[in-house]
Amino acid sequence: MTADSPAPPPFRLLRSPPPRVRRQKRDSELTGETASALLYMISTGSATNRADLARTLGLPPSTITGKINELLDASLVEEVGKGDPTGGRRPRILQLREDAGVMLAADLGRNHARLALLNMSGGILCTESIAISIGSGPEKVLGLVADALRALLATAGQPTVRGVGVCIPGPVDVAKGMVESPASMPGWHRFDVVDWLAAEFDTVAVVDNDANMMGLGEYAYLARQAQATSVKYKSMLYLKAGTSIGCGIVIDGHVYRGATALAGDIAHVRVAAAGERPCGCGNRGCLETVVGGAGIGDELRKAGVPVRDIFDIVRLAQDSDVRATTRTRAAGRLVGDTLAAIVNFFNPEVVVLGGLLSTVEPFVAAIRSQLYESCHPLATTSLRIQQSAAGIDAGVLGVGQLCLRKALSEL
Ligand SMILES: [Zn+2]
Repeated sequence: MTADSPAPPPFRLLRSPPPRVRRQKRDSELTGETASALLYMISTGSATNRADLARTLGLPPSTITGKINELLDASLVEEVGKGDPTGGRRPRILQLREDAGVMLAADLGRNHARLALLNMSGGILCTESIAISIGSGPEKVLGLVADALRALLATAGQPTVRGVGVCIPGPVDVAKGMVESPASMPGWHRFDVVDWLAAEFDTVAVVDNDANMMGLGEYAYLARQAQATSVKYKSMLYLKAGTSIGCGIVIDGHVYRGATALAGDIAHVRVAAAGERPCGCGNRGCLETVVGGAGIGDELRKAGVPVRDIFDIVRLAQDSDVRATTRTRAAGRLVGDTLAAIVNFFNPEVVVLGGLLSTVEPFVAAIRSQLYESCHPLATTSLRIQQSAAGIDAGVLGVGQLCLRKALSEL
């Protein structure tokens, strides 16, 4: 400032009231989250009265009371006597009702589907795996899945169905309940999966991408373990490496899907090693053409190794077959290289390696070493890189979580 400049106006305290912050309308995932956390704590016995639930969740007692009343009205929980007095009245004990109902979940792969019946706190009651061919179209595949889910319901004594959901290996517009431009899935584009499932089971329905749901399922699984270990994560990248590959991004218990449901789609990142190989998405040189189970299988067959599918590749690699081991290790390096850029950018607390290929040690070791080699040191200082703890049930656990949140938000 020069000597000729006018003096700046003196600071004044702002006397007018601050603008009112309008409360955001919460989406269904958030609305159901508190109820789903309450149900989980009640069902596991970690907190079974209103005061303990409020303390554990860090929410006002009035919010807890309102939610508990909704759960009582919906016949999901019941009061079963009174506990020890804590300096005053004896608190009323809550428990999950035996007849609260179940949710149905299916994780669809290219050639097989994992199915599960879950209780209303998101825990698995029973599971089943069936063979499918995702390329045979949505009505045929969903028909097979629905029949198998009905068989599971029959073995469980026909409990009330409170929700149903599936996850699929392709992009999904979750708001519309439709699959969007999936590669190698004829007939699925814009098919209204939610409408089909809701009509079939006469209940609320959800659909999402498989890597998203595996990420959510893993997050929920680890959050439950965290009650014993106190290790809690806020940000997670979940890599699904199977016949196809994908990535789920979970932040504070919520899936980040991006503007057009494509967030986490690592499969179609172009890599030099893929050259001009054509990809099912219509582009050339995508990562998935060289690191997915399908791409690895093509290369091994060209080298004279008789593999039919990803199960053969995994079996050979676990038996220390030199060609399968070398190929899966090379795939791990490529995945690790691409993942390193994402880890630098997103800076997550944990990277979880899931899907069948992540059960092969050389694949996992190559990703791990590539991440440590290529990432900024700050990104790996406290980064956890671990194999999926939820394993093959990660997808159905995630579908159960999404289903639960939607079912509870519609109470
Ligand atoms: Zn592609």
